[in-house]
Amino acid sequence: MVKKTKSGFKKNTDSVSNAFSRSGMSMQEVESKLVDHGIQPSLQRIKLAQYLLGKADHPTAEQIYTWAQKELGKISLATVYNTLSTFIECGLIQEFKFPHLDQVIYDCRMDHHFHFVDTKSQRLHDVDSGSLRVQLKLPKKFLVEKFDIVFKGVIED
Ligand SMILES: [Zn+2]
Repeated sequence: MVKKTKSGFKKNTDSVSNAFSRSGMSMQEVESKLVDHGIQPSLQRIKLAQYLLGKADHPTAEQIYTWAQKELGKISLATVYNTLSTFIECGLIQEFKFPHLDQVIYDCRMDHHFHFVDTKSQRLHDVDSGSLRVQLKLPKKFLVEKFDIVFKGVIED
């Protein structure tokens, strides 16, 4: 359930205390980020968001689910998917589908950027959109709304 208003949230300040994550974003900071995005901040959502905005690095839903089962205990895959769709809908994270992967990956970086796939480790690295210049000659009637570019290669030591 997504609430667009900022009022009316029942804040559970006991369970959402001053706990600080290794990623640097406290639960309270994550909580207000969720509220800013119009997401009702349940404890489960705060923890998932804390993981996605911090430690997680372009995770798949499966990786998120594995993490959630370990860290949050009983949680269904459906709940994980629902939470991810809420986060995407509210602009907290975005999803990418790559031709080399049969799974969607989730990204907390919201600006327009590209990815470099390290073909050895399959790890994704962010590439700033400013590092690319494209010269394209398309027929005038082709109106580009979006384009995706994936770079593949190895990373030298
Ligand atoms: Zn990215």
